[in-house]
Amino acid sequence: MMAANWKMYKSPDQARSFFGEFLPLVAEHSRDEIVVCTPFVDLPAAVEAAKGSGVAVGGQDLHWEKEGAYTGEISADMLLAVGCTHVIIGHSERRQFFGETDDTVNRKLKTALEAGLTPIVCVGEVLEEREAGLTDDVLRRQCLRAFHAISAKKAGKLVVAYEPVWAIGTGKTATPELAADAHALIRGEAAKSFGQELADKLRILYGGSVKPENAKALMAQEELDGALVGGASLDPKSFAAIVKY
Ligand code: PEP
Repeated sequence: MMAANWKMYKSPDQARSFFGEFLPLVAEHSRDEIVVCTPFVDLPAAVEAAKGSGVAVGGQDLHWEKEGAYTGEISADMLLAVGCTHVIIGHSERRQFFGETDDTVNRKLKTALEAGLTPIVCVGEVLEEREAGLTDDVLRRQCLRAFHAISAKKAGKLVVAYEPVWAIGTGKTATPELAADAHALIRGEAAKSFGQELADKLRILYGGSVKPENAKALMAQEELDGALVGGASLDPKSFAAIVKY
């Protein structure tokens, strides 16, 4: 899976132009899944532009409740109603700036799975945690709490993204080997929560300054099942180059 995270960039018109340029570039792709996660207001334009192309559209967050007095929030049903199939949950920017916790990630994950959306759950350590040798503990905790009280039967569509926070938007990329170690640990946690069969099939994406120049070396690691791409996904040519690395 190759997934784009546009963060807070692009208007609906800019989303249409992106797809106009991007789709012909990936017409011959061989990926299982390509997903573009846009700001909420761009979703209808993106879904319309991507229609019939096989490229999916996702949100960047959702609320765990069905509806209610939650100003500024978006529900799973609302995402589905505009044609979304995927949703990012627990991105480090939401954890860092908007009070996302392991508990809210768990609630959102349950809601997304229940609704039939494909959730992309982000986990990853900050620089201080890596330097203190705490990476494995942090990843274990984030996975254990995110997966809490979810059955293997329900978790079928789960996708996890390993995104070391020190590599997001910084130009610093994890080495392929370091990323593979983290992915193996995450897969082990998934096996504990959901059983080996699901863990073996679980797609774990790497995110953190993925670019056309480093995609091939990263994806050569068997543990890496795709990428979640921020900055480099804003440009149709560069995201297409990553998709077709
Ligand atoms: C992201 O936003 O998930 C991300 C990985 O960003 P970037 O590719 O810009 O590091």
